Amino acid sequence: MSGGKKLEQIELENTETGERRLVQTPAVFSMIGARPCTEWLPPEIESDDKGFIKTGSTVVDAPAWRASKHQPGPLETSLPGIFAAGDVRSGSVKRCAARSCEGGMAVAGVQMRLAASS
Ligand SMILES: Cc1cc2nc3c(=O)[nH]c(=O)nc-3n(C[C@H](O)[C@H](O)[C@H](O)COP(=O)(O)OP(=O)(O)OC[C@H]3O[C@@H](n4cnc5c(N)ncnc54)[C@H](O)[C@@H]3O)c2cc1C
Repeated sequence: MSGGKKLEQIELENTETGERRLVQTPAVFSMIGARPCTEWLPPEIESDDKGFIKTGSTVVDAPAWRASKHQPGPLETSLPGIFAAGDVRSGSVKRCAARSCEGGMAVAGVQMRLAASS
């Protein structure tokens, strides 16, 4: 990025081809992508090929659910009683409103699971 008192131009580089080009612009919005950072989770909590945590119908065949008399709730992971909500959940809508709703749904799911086990 370069300019005088404010941004005037950026230089873009294609890291695969090495091609570089200058673009005149007064502003930049950087959307750098998302990594779920779930490497620390135990293998019993299954994730998709990008590391996002699987929940609901996608985990019905997980060993812990096959051994259970219950079905996983929509936000329940492959480990019964453990829930995932928000961006880290595989297939979630990556938006603020969605993560807030999912957080509330996950709390309700925990309460239902606790009620069923008491
Ligand atoms: C550049 C950008 C622009 C966006 N613009 C919009 C928009 O205009 N409108 C909209 O609705 N959505 C927008 N989004 C998406 C929105 O920000 C996300 O959907 C939302 O923040 C997801 O909330 P979350 O709580 O699931 O995850 P996050 O907000 O990512 O929160 C997860 C938190 O967990 C913490 N964390 C991670 N690993 C660990 C760990 N091991 N231990 C403890 N803490 C940990 C992180 O530091 C972070 O604070 C945007 C996202 C980006 C990146």
